[in-house]
Amino acid sequence: MKENILYNLKQVHARIENACKASGRKASDVQLLLATKTVPAAKIRIAIEAGESLIGENKMQEFRDKDAELKDLNIERHFIGHLQTNKIKDVLKYVTCIQSLDRLNLAEELHKQLQKENRNLDVFIQVNTSFEESKFGLSPAEVIPFIKEIKKYETLKIKGLMTIGLLDVEKEKMLPSLRLLKEIRDDIYAEKTTGITDLKLSMGMSQDLELAIAEGSNLVRIGTSIFGNRFLGKEIWNENIAE
Ligand SMILES: *Cc1c(COP(=O)(O)O)cnc(C)c1O
Repeated sequence: MKENILYNLKQVHARIENACKASGRKASDVQLLLATKTVPAAKIRIAIEAGESLIGENKMQEFRDKDAELKDLNIERHFIGHLQTNKIKDVLKYVTCIQSLDRLNLAEELHKQLQKENRNLDVFIQVNTSFEESKFGLSPAEVIPFIKEIKKYETLKIKGLMTIGLLDVEKEKMLPSLRLLKEIRDDIYAEKTTGITDLKLSMGMSQDLELAIAEGSNLVRIGTSIFGNRFLGKEIWNENIAE
């Protein structure tokens, strides 16, 4: 098990480096997040002890269940799944960033809780760039109005945009939803009234990390290529049943 994970990590880092080289980018421009849903704590430990530092979970319960076993390690945690407002308080015990901010009432409830705790939180806005009903996220046209609306929640620090994108075996089908996220960022920069000038793009998974990096990704979220198959079939991509 250990050898596999170490080998896979090397491969993934090589893929990231090669993709960066191919598009004239520095490898240090792209951060690796380990997508650890369904992955037991013992496997996560192997990756962290090998030098990784950032993990993402889709469910609060998984952070909670694995917490005791990982307590002695220095791990940064992001939430990357669909967040129900009744889980906010618990999720905030673990994470420094929520990458899946996708609706106004979630922003409002997060702000309320953060005010109580007297802290700020990094957020990425999740965008549904593949227009699939099975995925959460704002539609592209909603993003700028949303940013303007949540500006009043000063505890939320907007750090970037996140998308899952369309997953397919064909590159040509995956590319448009990745490119779209970059275009949305350009639109945000062009809309001066948002006041936003620096947004990271969180996109790219096991299947499409090279494409995502070519399109400007700053953070790839990788599960399968490091920890192996989750044996959950297609269903995992229906975010509606993720929790
Ligand atoms: C599971 C998951 C990933 C990782 O997907 P893999 O194909 O296993 O690399 C990335 N992002 C999100 C939001 C996920 O749920």
